[in-house]
Amino acid sequence: MPIAMIVHGGAWAIPDEQVEPHLTGCQTALAAGWAILAAGGTALAACEAAVRVMEDDPVFDAGTGAVLTSAGTVELDAAVMDGHSLRYGAVANLRRVRNPITLARHVLDGPSTFLAGEGAEQFAVSVGLPLCANADLIVVRERVLWEAWRVGQLSEVPGGDSSAGEQDQPPSAHAVGGHDTVGAIALDEAGNLVAANSTGGTSFKLPGRIGDTPMVGCGLYADAYVGGAVCTGWGESIVRVALARRAVELLERGLPPQSAAELAIRTLARRVSGGHGGCIILTPGGRIGLAWNTRRMAYAYRQAGGEPIWGC
Ligand code: ASP
Repeated sequence: MPIAMIVHGGAWAIPDEQVEPHLTGCQTALAAGWAILAAGGTALAACEAAVRVMEDDPVFDAGTGAVLTSAGTVELDAAVMDGHSLRYGAVANLRRVRNPITLARHVLDGPSTFLAGEGAEQFAVSVGLPLCANADLIVVRERVLWEAWRVGQLSEVPGGDSSAGEQDQPPSAHAVGGHDTVGAIALDEAGNLVAANSTGGTSFKLPGRIGDTPMVGCGLYADAYVGGAVCTGWGESIVRVALARRAVELLERGLPPQSAAELAIRTLARRVSGGHGGCIILTPGGRIGLAWNTRRMAYAYRQAGGEPIWGC
């Protein structure tokens, strides 16, 4: 079977000066995943490796470098879905786990499908993952933004995107913080297809808030016989249309992956006021779809016999 892989590094109004680090981060993540697939490894291992690279890269809103809650803390969510077995593992509201995707992978192997908060962190310890301090996940950039937001220098605009921004408003938190959630879909030589993602959620979210990212059918879906989809953007809008499942259903109805991605994003914008984000798709034949209605989306992909392709 031909291998293929796609990753994304978030869909929002990524400023010009942040394009390069986003592209580099996506390329490095893709290379990590591809090395595993090319050596005959599983799509599950490839997705985990790619997402870990982006969780460790402070450019992205995942793992280290994630956006802060209104309380000035980091709370992380992640999920992974196996397209052959339809097994799914998700984690949310993690405060002390550096690589949530690895914990999600352990959940996928266990008796539960979704663990949150304190219980999820206890589970992390039980499977041998080290816990860190919440402060270890916070980078200066996000601390500075949070301080500015706290004293009213940034407005909180849920779902805000500076590409659609209002002239007379203070800069939107999302215009500077963005939707830098990360995601990956991989197809291995055994024909399995896996989808994975990881996020710190939206800037200054209420503690305890969970967006689309770890929710099956919303932030991700994978069916090895139909295709996989991973989404990013304003979680509260994505959840309402179950965007990832919707995209996979469009594949089921026979749409080519690019049309499915475009129609899914058009539906998001049409059905939810202010709905915005991006969607990546990979099919069992290794075909790619990608669409977004924000100013930019960072991505990189590679198909068997081809060179890596990237954009932002
Ligand atoms: N979808 C994520 C959330 O709402 C944010 C993002 O994609 O960056 O939690």
